[in-house]
Amino acid sequence: MASPALLMRVVASAYSVAEKAATIVRNVMAAGDLGIVDKTGDNDLQTKADRLVQMSICASLAQKFPKVTIIGEEELSTDEVTEELIEDGHCEEILKKTCPAQYAGIKEEELVIWVDPLDGTKEYTEGLLDHVTVLIGIAYEGKAIAGVINQPYYNYEAGGGAVLGRTIWGVLGMGAFGFQLTEAPAGKHIIVTTRSHSSTLVNECISALNPDSVIRVGGAGNKIIQLIEGKASAYVFASPGCKKWDTCAPEAILHAVGGKITDIHGNSFQYNKEVKHMNSAGVLATLRNYDYYASRIPNTVKQSLVP
Ligand code: AMP
Ligand code: MG
Ligand code: MG
Repeated sequence: MASPALLMRVVASAYSVAEKAATIVRNVMAAGDLGIVDKTGDNDLQTKADRLVQMSICASLAQKFPKVTIIGEEELSTDEVTEELIEDGHCEEILKKTCPAQYAGIKEEELVIWVDPLDGTKEYTEGLLDHVTVLIGIAYEGKAIAGVINQPYYNYEAGGGAVLGRTIWGVLGMGAFGFQLTEAPAGKHIIVTTRSHSSTLVNECISALNPDSVIRVGGAGNKIIQLIEGKASAYVFASPGCKKWDTCAPEAILHAVGGKITDIHGNSFQYNKEVKHMNSAGVLATLRNYDYYASRIPNTVKQSLVP
């Protein structure tokens, strides 16, 4: 049998690297010293877990795939990464799957990997642990084509007997795995949005959509999980603040199951290595009925958000 396509080897490795990351996230919390730094003074926090996980993911993937471009959220050097942070394994089950034909010939230097080592840091520091995810998004020709989302504290409220944590992964043209795809309640407009980065504009936009209910939770990864598990019908964030590493992995998984994510104007996100990191014009994402929400975003909100 021919050796697996590069894309499948990258996803299989990212899966194991994300599991290692989840262990680090749990260990740092269990040890109790979070080492919190506020990066910009705008609830933009970094903990020891963000730092260690960034080093672990970036160094592990760079060691295996030296020609891939890796862009991580935290500005840290990976020169002095200790051996215990390196993950060399891969998920066998992913390697056995056939790569979609359109991606079978991809070369290392054509991939860009966007890493959010810990998404939902603010919530992590407040003990809202199931909001936290580790995001590894894989882009080709500017498009998010594959992604891994690990939720280190999935099931933590279920108590001692439950298995803690899960890994969701997906590839465009193949689908997404590690969760049960569920539709949101029919006829209800349930909006999921930020919990810790709200603004007048964010709330004005949500009110204009006249929702039945609003769920305020942390993390871009977590909010996409709410969409694919039928907890919410739209993720609406009319504000700058979200970056490419927040949206790349979630976008690949959402698109792999037929959903859609854009900025608030309806523009798709680009993930080539030269792109600016900030998603300046916000986020609009749904599993179904994208047009319903897109057509109801007020022009005043759109005019306030320049792409
Ligand atoms: P949230 O929905 O508030 O958890 O935000 C989703 C992602 O975007 C997280 O990684 C946040 O850190 C990031 N984000 C959103 N708004 C801001 C902001 N105003 N400043 C810094 N990061 C932000
Ligand atoms: Mg994030
Ligand atoms: Mg982060």
